[in-house]
Amino acid sequence: MKLFYNAIFHTMKSENDTVKAILIENGVIVKTFNEIPEKISAEKIDLQGNHVFPGLIDTHTHAFEGGLYSLSADLGKVCSLQDVFDLIESTEPIGNMLFAYQFDENLIREKRFPTMAELDSILSDIPLLLRRIDGHSCVINSAAAKQIPWEKPLPSNFNGILRRRENDFVANWFHQKVNNTGIMRAYQKAAEIALKNGLTTIHTMIGDGRNDPEHLPFLQKHLAKFPIEFILYPQITDVKTVLNLGLPRIGGCILADGSFGSHTAGLKQPYFDQPENVGCCYQTNEYWENFVQEAHAADLQVFIHAIGDAAIQQVIDAYKNAQLKSPKNLRHAVIHNELTDDAMLDDMAKFGMAAVMQPMFDRLWAGKNGLYEQVLGVERTKSTNRFRSILNRNILLAGSSDWYVTDLNPFAAISAASNMHHGNQSISPYEALQLYTSNAAKLSHDENRLGKIQEAFQADFIVTNTDLTKPFISEQIKLQSVYKKGCVVQ
Ligand SMILES: [Zn+2]
Ligand SMILES: [Zn+2]
Repeated sequence: MKLFYNAIFHTMKSENDTVKAILIENGVIVKTFNEIPEKISAEKIDLQGNHVFPGLIDTHTHAFEGGLYSLSADLGKVCSLQDVFDLIESTEPIGNMLFAYQFDENLIREKRFPTMAELDSILSDIPLLLRRIDGHSCVINSAAAKQIPWEKPLPSNFNGILRRRENDFVANWFHQKVNNTGIMRAYQKAAEIALKNGLTTIHTMIGDGRNDPEHLPFLQKHLAKFPIEFILYPQITDVKTVLNLGLPRIGGCILADGSFGSHTAGLKQPYFDQPENVGCCYQTNEYWENFVQEAHAADLQVFIHAIGDAAIQQVIDAYKNAQLKSPKNLRHAVIHNELTDDAMLDDMAKFGMAAVMQPMFDRLWAGKNGLYEQVLGVERTKSTNRFRSILNRNILLAGSSDWYVTDLNPFAAISAASNMHHGNQSISPYEALQLYTSNAAKLSHDENRLGKIQEAFQADFIVTNTDLTKPFISEQIKLQSVYKKGCVVQ
C-alpha cells in the first residue's frame, strides 16, 4: 500500500472539491482522506505541496499516425519549399518508406504544394508521402505512384497531388505497408509523447473507413506492453467485424465530410471564398441512417467525423432516428462538430448525443483573418466550436487534439477552451479540465473507473506545480510526475 500526501488532490467530483491524501493498493485508490492520517502502515510518498489531478485523457487521436510521424519529417515550421526538401533529405525512412507531415501551403513563401517532379529530384528510390496539416490532401513521389495499386489509371498530367478519397486511399496504402515492428515503434512513441503531456489514456483511431480493421487485432494482443491505456476505435462500418473483435464502439474519423482547409467540409450555405461551392457530404442520408441503425441495434456506440453544418446535420438526424426507434444510453458522438446552429445542438441534447471536440481548432483557426474567417466569413465563424452553448445544454462534451492534426498537448487545449476567440463560447478552466478527465471517462463509459480521484477508481494521476482549475499559462506548467495504476511512469 502507498499513501500519497502533502498535495492538493483535485477530485473532479465537483469544483473546489479536494482531499489531502490518497491510499493506493493494487493500482486502485482504496481511500481518500480529508486529513492526512497519522497512523497507517503504508509506504508514504510526499508530493511536496503540488497539485494532483486525475490522469488526463485525450478522446480523439490518430496515435499510430502521430507516433509514426513523430519519427518522420515534421514540416510544421518550414518557410519555403527548399526547407521542405532539406527536411525530407535529412529524415530516416521507416520500413523502407518516408513520411512527411504537417505541411501547410499557406505558411510557405511559394503558397503551393511541391510537385511530384520536385519530390523525385530529392527522393526517387523509395515511396514518399507528404501530407497536408489536416490530413485531407497529400503529395507523393513517383516511386510511390509506381507501387500503389490504383483503382483507375492515373491521368497523364498527374502532378502527385491527391485530395478527397484518393488522398485517403493513398495514406491508407502507406500505413498498411508499415510492418509489425514499425507499428509497435509508432505506438511506443505515441505513449512516450502522451506521458510527457500528462495523458494516461488516449483514444486512438485505427483504419480508414473501409472494412479492413488494419492492425487493430495485432494491437489488441499487445495493449499490456504500453505504459498508457489505448482505447481502440475501429474506423470501419462493418458491424459484424467489430462485434467479432469484441469492441463496444464503431467508427471514429469515418468521414461524413472533409475539412474547411480543403473546402471539402459539407456546408448548408456556400463557402465565403468560393460562392459556387458548398463542400462535400461524402455519403447520402440513407447511408448514415442504415449504418447507424445497424450499429445501434447491435448496442455499439457510434462515432462519425462531421465538420460542416450540412454533414453534422446528416449525422445528428441518423442518431436521432435510431434513438427515436429504440432509446439507449450509448452516447453516439459527433467528432469535430465544428459548425452548428441552436436547433442542431438542441437535438444533440434531447437525444443523448456526445460531442468530441478540439479546443486547439479555435486557437489555430478562429482568429481575425484566420482560416475560418477566410472560408466561412466573419459571421459564420461565430458559430464554430460552440463549447459554452454545448455545455449549457448538458451535452456530453469531451476534449481532444485530433493528434497529429494538432499537438498532443492537453494543457494548451484546456487553456484554449477557456480563452476562445468568441468570448461568449469560453468555458471555465475547471470545465475545460472536465473535458479531459471526468467527461472523457464518460465518453468511453468508464465513468466508474477513470477521470476522478475517488475511492475504487484506477490510480491514474498527474502531479503538477499549477492549479489547472484556475486560469494558467500552459507553457509555465511543470509536470512533476505521472502515475498509472499507482506506479510512476513519467
Ligand atoms: Zn480525427
Ligand atoms: Zn476527423
